Formats: sequence, C-alpha cells, structure tokens
Amino acid sequence: MNDGTSRREFLGTLAAFSLFPLEQEKPDLILHHGNILTVNDKEPRAQAVAIARDRFLAVGSNADVLSLASAATKKIDLGGKTVTPGFIDAHSHPAEAGLMHLRMVDCDLRSISAIQKALRERAANTPPGEWVLGFKYDDTKTEEGRPLTVADVDAAVPDHPVHIQHRGGHTTYSNSLAFRKAGIDEKTPDPPGGKIEHDPATGKLSGRVAESANDLFDKAIPHTFTRDDHREGVKLISKMMARTGITSATEAQGTPTDLRAYQDALESGDLRHRAYCFINFHFLDPMIAAGNRTGLGDEWVRVGAVKLVCDGSISERTARLSTPYEGRPDDYGILVMTEEELYIHGRKAHFAGWQIGTHANGDVAIDTTLRVYERLQKESPRRDPRFRLEHCTVVNDSLIARIKALGAIPTPFSTYVYYHGEKMRYYGAERLNHMFALRSFIDAGIRPTQASDYPPGEFIPMMALQSEVTRTDLKGNVWGPKQKITVEEAIRVGTLNGAYASYEENLKGSIEVGKLADLVVLGRDPLKENAATLVNIPVERTMAGGRWTFES
Ligand SMILES: [Zn+2]
Repeated sequence: MNDGTSRREFLGTLAAFSLFPLEQEKPDLILHHGNILTVNDKEPRAQAVAIARDRFLAVGSNADVLSLASAATKKIDLGGKTVTPGFIDAHSHPAEAGLMHLRMVDCDLRSISAIQKALRERAANTPPGEWVLGFKYDDTKTEEGRPLTVADVDAAVPDHPVHIQHRGGHTTYSNSLAFRKAGIDEKTPDPPGGKIEHDPATGKLSGRVAESANDLFDKAIPHTFTRDDHREGVKLISKMMARTGITSATEAQGTPTDLRAYQDALESGDLRHRAYCFINFHFLDPMIAAGNRTGLGDEWVRVGAVKLVCDGSISERTARLSTPYEGRPDDYGILVMTEEELYIHGRKAHFAGWQIGTHANGDVAIDTTLRVYERLQKESPRRDPRFRLEHCTVVNDSLIARIKALGAIPTPFSTYVYYHGEKMRYYGAERLNHMFALRSFIDAGIRPTQASDYPPGEFIPMMALQSEVTRTDLKGNVWGPKQKITVEEAIRVGTLNGAYASYEENLKGSIEVGKLADLVVLGRDPLKENAATLVNIPVERTMAGGRWTFES
C-alpha cells in the first residue's frame, strides 16, 4: 500500500466492512415507552432504545425505534419508567470487599448487642479455635454511644479469637483470646506508628488497637484465600453492586491477584460490572516489565492507573490539612509519602505511559500531589495524562485553578455527607463548604466523578445523588450547602464523568448509538423526586452490555 490507489481501495474495503453490519443489524431487544435520561447533550431525552448484542443500535422516539424491530426482536414496555445510563463508581475496593463479605461478619449494625448476636452466630458455625473476623464496625453508629470493649466481645464469643475491623480500616477491636494469639498483653509497648489502647481507669486492654499495631494481628491470623475465593469474592460484590444500578467500578487499590480475580469472574460468567483495575505502586515494576500499561484489557476488565497514596483518611480524621481539626489545635493529620517519594514513583509511571491516581484528601496533600503532577508534565508533557486526585476532599480556589489547568480529575466521596454526617463536625461548618466540592469543580469546568470508596463509604448511587444534591445527613444536618449540585448534574457525575476518568467516554457513560448498552431502570424519576427521598428510589433493573445483571 504505497500508492494512492491501493490506499483508497483499502479504505473503501474497510468502510464497506464496517457499515455492512450496522445497516443490516436488527435489534435483539427494544425498550420502549420509557422516560430515558440519556446524558447526551445532543438528545437529552428519549422514549426508546434498540440494543443489538452489547451496544445501543438506536435511541429515539417510540415510533422510530420500534420500526426497526424484526420478528425476532424482544420488546419490553417500560410503562413510563425512568432509565439512566449505568452508574460508574470511580473509586471503591470491590475485590477486597467481596472477600470480606464472603468470609467475615458484617458488623454494620446499630447496637452492640446486635453485633454480639452476629458474632455468636458465626462462632457457632466456626470450628473450635478458628478466628471469627468482623468488618464494617462503626463506633459512631451504635445506639450505646460508646465503643466496643474487650468485655463485650468476650461475652459474645469467649472460645474463638475474634478480630473486628472498623469501617474506615485503620482501627480494630478484639477479644481476649485474639490478644493472646497476637502475643499482646497489658505490658506490650506501642509499636512505632501504632497504638494499643488501655482502659484509662483499670489500665487493662480496651480492645481497640490502631494503625501499625494491627500488624500484630495480621501476623497471627491465617490468610488463606484460594484463587477460587478471590473469584467468588468478585462474584459476590459484583452482584451486590448490580442491585444498586452500578455497571462499572474502579478497583482503587488493585493488585495482580485482583486483576486475575476479575478475569476469572468474567470467564465464569460471574462479573456483572466492568472493572477498571488500578495497580498498587508496589506492583508497578513487574507490570511495566511485562509490557502492561493503563488501558490494556477490554471493556470488562481493564488495567487502570497506578495508585499512590499521599495522606490519611477523612472518616478516621487523619487527612493532612493546612489548618487543624476542630477542637484539636495541634492535629493537622498525616502525610504518608513525601513529595520526593511521590515524584519518584510517579515519574516511573508517567514515563511508562501510565495514568496516575494519587490518594489526596487534605488541602496540603492535594497541593503536594498537584506539584508532583505539574513537575512531571513539565519534564515530559503528555497529551492527555488525565491525572487523578483520589478523593480530593478539601480544596480552595487556587487548588481548583491548578486542577483545571492540569486537566486533572477529582474523585470526591459521594455518600459521606449523607452517611457519615456524624464525622463532619471534626471539619467544621466553614471547611465543609470546601469539601466534596462538586459545585466548585463543575463551575470551573472540571469533571468530578461519583465514588464510594466502599467499604468505608456506601456505594448506592441513589444515596450519592441525595448526598450531593441536599448536602444533608441522616439526622437532617446540612454540611457545606455551597457545594449542592442539581440532580441532573449528579447523574452526569455518576455516569459520563466516570467514563471519562477511565478514558472510556466514547464507549460508555451515556445512552448513545454505538455505546455499550449499560443502563438502569428506576422505579421513580429522580428529576421529579423530593430530594430528601432520592435514596429510596428503587432500582428495578440493571443492564450491562445488553444483558440484565439485576432484575427485581
Ligand atoms: Zn480508597
């Protein structure tokens, strides 16, 4: 093909080849008489869609779309129900959460006695001496208004070691036998970067340990997950997410094992959501050596960004801030990586063509991370690096201007205001107007995403809409009203913006001809719903790639 003629012939062949199936293809399925919110600016509303294989073949009026039907086309009358694109959770930890749901006791319960009952039931079905493990315990959410103690857990389960993780993942609660197995007694000193708590009155172990002290338990607990367990974990969480309308999720702290688990689940037909699998920076070298980079894979399982971490957590109040936490004048939070370390890892990834996603919650961490990104882009400009700021919680005008200038993507917590309202007072009313700053991001022309960070946050997209639109918690307190956005904006944040964050905005995120048929059928229209009850809108069906992944 080195002359004009053969080049034209070649293009002609290609064009005929690609047009033929599009023109000839008949829809497998038509959904009609719906209220379809497409998130496509050119055609924001539609009544019907036609789907062939895994793509939208047509979007439009009932008459236009139904006229495409063949005798073999299945038709579903939506009866006026609302349809949106499938929701994209741009930052969560599904693979790990799936394993936890598979093996551990879900302690997201509203009283200590309910937690005791759940632990007792699990112990009854656990061989003698084996560990009973719990997760998603939240000390701020039980009716007793005090944390779990070693006595509480001993009373529930005396003869199995019990170890329970806090929802935020940085602290744990155990019984006496677990402390013995971990080699911890009242005289054990705090390890560097960790804390073993004592009852201030008696000096005895309180049951709670924090940060690096958890390693003592990690060494004592046998972690024996098989390859099948990892696949089963993905299967379980994928089913849970599909029920809520999620069709894609970013695995925000992935490993090669997670990547394999997603592939295994896909192969066995158990993957109901598309996975954009970040890779923890510890695995960056072997991934680069094997020739991998961001984008490798297909529309179901794809290698995502490399994950770096700059500071601590919002829910456990360790994010690095420029002004101290409310009521704790010396506490500014912590930086977990230095700027130079971030730069060294970031440089390696940037030069190898990887997208970078850095956990940065506090304004100091965001400033640090942006400085690293700006330096990388100056040293080696890439056309479209789509640097990500994972969480990007506490911002100000100058940070927003730099995020915009860099084309970076913030992934703020979507359900925290609603679900974790009791933790907001540590940040104060004024600072809350600069946190989870969707209004500011959107007004600046930045594309923020919907992100749960599950398990720490809830992943229910309808809860995200309510949280973002009302900025109101479960008890009716309003946090940061200046950052309210509209329902329409929140839907776009949860769909098309999520696709952009993984370089897939031409593939999914809106209901458009040629895109993947990922959608949600809702029981009520979020645009007509009272904003205070958005969370109650039922998800009736979820579809990913033309296949129902959930039907109520
Ligand atoms: Zn996370």
